[in-house]
Amino acid sequence: MPIPCRICGSLANPYYRIPMTRVEFAKEMEFYLCSRCGFCFAPSLDHVDKAAFYGPGYNTYDFACGRRGEREANIARWATDNWGNGGKRALSIGDSSGTGLAALGSVGFDAWSADFGATGERRLDLNLDIPAENYFDVITLIEVAEHFTEPLVDFTRYGRLLAPGGVLCGTTGCRDFAEICRDSQPNERWWYCNTKCCDCGHVSLYSLASMMIVAEAVGLRLRVHERRVELTTYMGQSQMVFYMIKETA
Ligand SMILES: [Zn+2]
Repeated sequence: MPIPCRICGSLANPYYRIPMTRVEFAKEMEFYLCSRCGFCFAPSLDHVDKAAFYGPGYNTYDFACGRRGEREANIARWATDNWGNGGKRALSIGDSSGTGLAALGSVGFDAWSADFGATGERRLDLNLDIPAENYFDVITLIEVAEHFTEPLVDFTRYGRLLAPGGVLCGTTGCRDFAEICRDSQPNERWWYCNTKCCDCGHVSLYSLASMMIVAEAVGLRLRVHERRVELTTYMGQSQMVFYMIKETA
């Protein structure tokens, strides 16, 4: 049975299933594909407790590889140099390892980071409300948006934390370039939708069109900069880099 697309509301049809090995959370990921905007998503983890899912059993093997922190710092710097409001307050979302906090701090940002259950200096717990509305000048979502079970809700939440003129930037998978688009099958070579990554909680796979709709929908205050949505590859993976600017009133 089709269900409503989580981004544009059009009908999304069952697309494919991938078995999970963390069966205590779900036996499989059941993905749906929106016929209009191309967003691909799995409701399979909707009711899973995020603190438990992203707790001690969560696989963090990807944090150390690929100069992740350096890339995060580069993206944040690029964003603030080109569209920023001149401020230096930075927040790294989904930064359980502390890589983002260190990297942003090393290039001169007044850095903070946040994740579920995070504790410690300058580390915020995403299970709690972050009392910092209109505060941060740049917020990074490096390999985070694919974990969003409700993209519009999550983007809205983080957009609120941005100061006027601030930039929300990040990386995530891009279906427009993925092999998955050709054969309608999960592809073990595509980082975002193989068995290992289902175990990591990748439930939202964006097309460029769907990301543009997200940006428009977030209170009409965020937008994808039309000339700065890159399609690129990173460690052999199809990926998009997005920048959303909070317009000043
Ligand atoms: Zn859609």
